[in-house]
Formats: sequence, structure tokens, C-alpha cells
Amino acid sequence: VRTTQQEQQAGGADPLTVDVVVLGTGSGGKMVAQELARAGRVAVVEATRVGGDCPYVACVPAKSLLLSARAGLPWTAAVAVRDEASAHREDTGAAAELLEQGITVLRGAGRLTGPGRVAVGDVEVRADVVVVGTGSAPVRPPVDGLDGAPTWTSVDALSTDERPGRLVVLGAGAVGCELAEAYAGLGSEVALVQRSGHLLSREPAWVGDLLAQSLRRRGVDVRTGVGAKAVVRDGDGWALALEDGSSLPFDRLLLATGRAPNLPAGLEEVVVDARCRVLRDGAPVPGLFAVGDVTGVSNYTHSANHQARTVVAEVLGHGRDADYSGVPRAVYTDPAVFCVGDTTRTEGVLRASFDVGEVARAHLVEGVEGPRGALDEACLGPEADSWGAELALAVRARLDVDLLAHHVRAFPTWSEAVYPALRDLLAARA
Ligand SMILES: Cc1cc2nc3c(=O)[nH]c(=O)nc-3n(C[C@H](O)[C@H](O)[C@H](O)COP(=O)(O)OP(=O)(O)OC[C@H]3O[C@@H](n4cnc5c(N)ncnc54)[C@H](O)[C@@H]3O)c2cc1C
Repeated sequence: VRTTQQEQQAGGADPLTVDVVVLGTGSGGKMVAQELARAGRVAVVEATRVGGDCPYVACVPAKSLLLSARAGLPWTAAVAVRDEASAHREDTGAAAELLEQGITVLRGAGRLTGPGRVAVGDVEVRADVVVVGTGSAPVRPPVDGLDGAPTWTSVDALSTDERPGRLVVLGAGAVGCELAEAYAGLGSEVALVQRSGHLLSREPAWVGDLLAQSLRRRGVDVRTGVGAKAVVRDGDGWALALEDGSSLPFDRLLLATGRAPNLPAGLEEVVVDARCRVLRDGAPVPGLFAVGDVTGVSNYTHSANHQARTVVAEVLGHGRDADYSGVPRAVYTDPAVFCVGDTTRTEGVLRASFDVGEVARAHLVEGVEGPRGALDEACLGPEADSWGAELALAVRARLDVDLLAHHVRAFPTWSEAVYPALRDLLAARA
């Protein structure tokens, strides 16, 4: 087992030769490294934290703050729980795990220097297989006056000890909606601004509209169909001027308007085929793969993991295509949102829906009353992130509605909500 330090001291000497080198140890890269280390010599290159964003500054702390807010924890307790859950943003344990598996860990920003060649600092690594898993970074929106204003990215919002009195969230995708709910629940005054007509613009309007209702009930000032014009001074403070002439004063402005691939030096773009091979002029570059957000295919940890398994299989000689048809798009708000497939298609589809509030389970839970959601290819309702999984499998396996409708679900679970909609679909196609 080599330590990071010993490796770095090797700089300037002979190149390090391994079978596989992985750039970026996020969800995708770390899984590739760990799986392939069982079969050969593996080195990883990591610019910040071994483990990437998810455990330290993305999925895990975001879910932690949401759950703490729902449990009614005060801010300082919520921060303590968040920091414990995200290992205090310290990757010692994750790095040790890799070293114990015999993986060489190199610290620094890796660059691609030629076929099968990677450099980090003055260390050169040669490998038959190079896997790029360098993730993504938040896009800074083109809003006048941002420079010098107290802005946050999601990383700041998930690692700070500061609870802003007034938080404006710009962008209502999954990240914006989750952080708006979390901060409102933890005592900030929150406004959420979305240029398109509804929250979660990629999903059907009814999903975004029901979520907006829920966030408004929690005190969030939801503004849809209006863009940000400029950040302006407001007395001693700041305000976000909107295109409709209104303005929202803030102490912090959270920029949640999307992410772009984080390309390592030596790579101008990443386009992958179904085996996650990087394509140049339409043809796979021998020995070069990419996984995770950098591929721009699907920005989820579970997608990065699916791509990682695809690369591992390909490298070990039993390749199979990645299949994204059943990839869930979950948002962990309350109610949770769970979408799969093309939820906005209108041509050639039969639709059915059902109010989750009508199932027996809803009558057992305090606070669930009236229509709380519906089933389409999208689900919205309590714990939809769990019970929607059966529909993701159904979409991926192209299961017939008849089988799905006659499948027996335990009583009283939320999953019973899918039956009435399936029954209506059967009737509609008869
Ligand atoms: C607030 C938030 C909440 C989220 N919640 C969820 C969720 O609940 N569920 C879900 O599935 N997804 C969620 N996501 C998305 C998820 O975090 C990403 O899809 C996932 O982390 C992508 O993993 P990755 O493999 O692309 O690597 P990343 O986690 O992006 O890590 C990439 C790594 O590469 C390193 N790196 C970059 N450039 C170089 C270089 N040149 N050399 C060496 N290393 C380099 C970086 O330092 C980083 O450690 C969330 C995202 C955010 C922002």
C-alpha cells in the first residue's frame, strides 16, 4: 500500500505505470477504481476530496438539512448533524479505503497529455485505460451586478455555518427546490425565482405547480415565469431586481441555475457512446472512457454509478450498453417528486392519474389530507422517492400495463396509489 505522500515524492522520476488511471474520484470514478482494483493496478488522481461532491457538499448534506428541518431541529443542531453526515468534508476515511485496496492516490488536478498518459504536477502516469470522472460545476447565470454581491453556490449553502436572514434562490430545479425547502424550514425567509412557468421545468406543469403550493405553505415566496434582471444595492444591503419590476432584498443569493461539465486540461469536450467510451469525430478513442456528470448524460449519483458499472464491464471484456430509460429523477422535497422517462410527451400516449391522498396509508399519517399527488409517469407524494421505484423498473423493462395493474401491492402502503391509475389506463386502451 502506497501513501499519497510517497506517490507525490515520486515526481520527476520514472513514470508511474498502471493498468487503469481514473481522473476524479466522485461517485463514478471511485466506483470504477474500486471495482477494477480487484483485477489490476489502479491509480486515481483527485483535485479536491476523494469521494467527489455527493457525500460532502451535495446529495448527503442536502438530504440531511431537509430531514433536520422536517424534524424541527434548530439551525445549530441541523448544522452539527449535517457535518457529521458529511464527514466534516474531510476525505481521510475515503482516501484510506482506496489505499487499503492497493489503489495509488495522487493529489492534484490531472491533465490528459496523450494517449494513455495523464500528468499531475510533475508526476506522469501511463495506463492502458484512462477514465475521466471529473464531475460538473455550477454555471454562473448572466445577471448584471453579480460580481461583488454576496452569492452562494450549492457548495456554500451546504457547508456554511451561517443561516441568512433572507435567502433568494435563483433557479428551481431539484437543487433550488430542495435548498429552498430546507432553509425555509430552518428559519430563513426564502424566495425562489424561476424564469419558466413552473418549478422543475423539465417535468409536467402539474408537478411543479403542486410543489410550488407545498413550498408556499412552508412560507417560501415562489415566483415563477419571471427572470432575474440585475443585482442592485438596496440601502446597505442587496436586492435581486426581477423582470416584472419587483425586487427581492437578500442577505445571500443562491445561484442554482444549472451545472456544466468540468473538463480536465487536454480534453475539449466529452461525448460518450452507450459503453461510456469517449468519442472523437464519432469514433471511440481507444482506452478512453468517461463517467458521471462530465458526460452531460444524466446528473445523478445513481447514473454515475450505472456508467461506472458499464465501464467496468467493458474493460473486463463483458461489455453491455448503458440503459438510461429507467433512470429516476428524484427530488427529496415534501412531498417528494419521482419522475422517469419522458414525462412531457403528449403525442401517442394514454394518461391516467390518481390522488395519493385517497389511499389507505394517507389516512394513517397525520397531516396528509386531501389530494397530495398523482401518478403519471411522474409521481408526487409522501415517500414517492421510494414507491416510485417500481414504475422506474416498469419503464425500463417495458412491462405491460396489464401485469403492472394485476401485481399485488402490500396494504396499506403508498404504492397502492398506482393501482387506480393503472386500472384507468387498461380501460382507456381497451
Ligand atoms: C446540491 C446537490 C444535491 C444533489 N443531490 C443528489 C441526490 O440526492 N441524488 C443524486 O443521485 N444526485 C444528486 N446530486 C447530483 C450528484 O451530486 C452528482 O450527479 C454526482 O456527484 C456526480 O458524480 P461524478 O462521478 O460526476 O463526480 P463528482 O462528485 O462531480 O466528483 C468529481 C471529482 O472530480 C474531481 N476533479 C475535477 N477535475 C479534476 C481533475 N482535473 N483532476 C482530478 N480530479 C478532478 C473533483 O475534485 C471531484 O472530487 C446532487 C447535486 C447537488 C449539487
